[in-house]
Amino acid sequence: MIRKIKCNLQFKLTAAFLAFTLLLFSLLGIFVNFLLEKQFENYIIDKITQKNNEIVSNLEMRYTDSDWKWEEAGLEYIGVNALGDSLIIRISNVQGTVLWDATKHDSGMCASILQNLAENMQNHNAAFNGGYKEKTFDITVGQKVVGSVSIGYFGPYYYTDNDIHFLNSLNKFLLLGTLITAAVAIVFGAFLAKWLSSPISRVIRAAGQIAQGKYNDRIHEKSNTKEILELASSVNTLAETLSKQEILRKRLTANVAHELRTPTANLQSHIEVMIDGIWKPDAARLMSCHEETIRISKLLSDLEKTTRFEADNLILKKETFDLTALILKITKSFENDIAVKHIHVTQELSTRYLTADKEKIEQVIVNLVSNALKYTPEDGHVDIRTDETSESVLISVDDSGIGISNEDLPFIFERFYRADKSRNRATGGSGIGLAIVKFLAEAHSGAVTVESKPGLGSKFTVTLPKER
Ligand code: ADP
Repeated sequence: MIRKIKCNLQFKLTAAFLAFTLLLFSLLGIFVNFLLEKQFENYIIDKITQKNNEIVSNLEMRYTDSDWKWEEAGLEYIGVNALGDSLIIRISNVQGTVLWDATKHDSGMCASILQNLAENMQNHNAAFNGGYKEKTFDITVGQKVVGSVSIGYFGPYYYTDNDIHFLNSLNKFLLLGTLITAAVAIVFGAFLAKWLSSPISRVIRAAGQIAQGKYNDRIHEKSNTKEILELASSVNTLAETLSKQEILRKRLTANVAHELRTPTANLQSHIEVMIDGIWKPDAARLMSCHEETIRISKLLSDLEKTTRFEADNLILKKETFDLTALILKITKSFENDIAVKHIHVTQELSTRYLTADKEKIEQVIVNLVSNALKYTPEDGHVDIRTDETSESVLISVDDSGIGISNEDLPFIFERFYRADKSRNRATGGSGIGLAIVKFLAEAHSGAVTVESKPGLGSKFTVTLPKER
């Protein structure tokens, strides 16, 4: 099984930088070598041609025009000079008589020149296919051919010791350049990697603190790298969400505990006094205990209800239904409460149809209307309206009830939160009605808002997006 080795970002960046530099220089080396070799080859071939021409024109100049004779010392000078350039020449007059021959002059030297060049070429390129070549040129003076010269050389081209030295030095420079650049790449890569990875490491450390439950910690990383700022901001948002969730969880636990405390304390004290024989367990007392157990079990079933509502798999069964008819039906179902409290209910229902989950919207309206009736004193009024904009449908329930204080307003949509601190059971609720309203509105991609003034009344508005 192949195990993946985990390397840190710094190592990876340095290695990538180094690999890139080496690759670049290797390619550059191959390219430069290939180009250079070709150029150098052409240059050497041109140089051989140029030298041949020089030899021919020198010989033409050495021919003494006045008495149509060769100057013999001059011929030797030209021949020896040509040997210096690794060219083996043989000069003949027009009759074919050899006037000067390099192989006669110094046969050992000629052989060693050819041998040396063959070795140079073989060492430089083992596949080089070359050997002794000879070219013959006429020597012409004043339109008249006065002789000829055969120039022997190692062909098709040859590199002298100097040429080989030049090529080797160039390659050495290239190699040195690669090594220096690789060293610079390592240093620069390591620096760059550290520069890039340090803020990430700091964000990781800060995120680690948050992961340990320090939700109030924030990352204050100052960076001019957009992604790092975004990462820090995402982690901060996450911490904020976790912190809010944590506060909600604590508050929920406190609210549930608070709700459970009263009935369980009542139940406990009632049973204790009955065990101690202070109270007789008569029907009325047992009934009172029974009521407390009903309160506890109602609370537990409410808790269950909210958990069920908040389950991720809440599926909305959307349909187009008559919203006006639904509101009229709900109002009718509260007829008794309305009559008992002499509440004046008005309805301004300008939106007839709505596409949504009818059952869930019914639950939303029931909760809002029941709260309005619950928290509105006798002879008050409740106004139910529907309205619409191009984007959404609005359902509002406005009452002239007790209102909600500013301190309570931010929390009323939390599960089991009740603004009335005495937890007076007279109103009967357990504090989950609005949590359900909020959840169902949001499940429809909508929202619920509240405006309230203590003593004057409250207005709850549910906004639901129109289905396209
Ligand atoms: P409850 O079952 O206690 O009514 P809700 O979640 O429906 O639970 O409401 C939460 C709290 O918000 C209530 O306990 C009450 O204090 C406050 N509240 C809700 N609706 C109104 C209203 N129309 N007028 C005044 N207070 C309200």
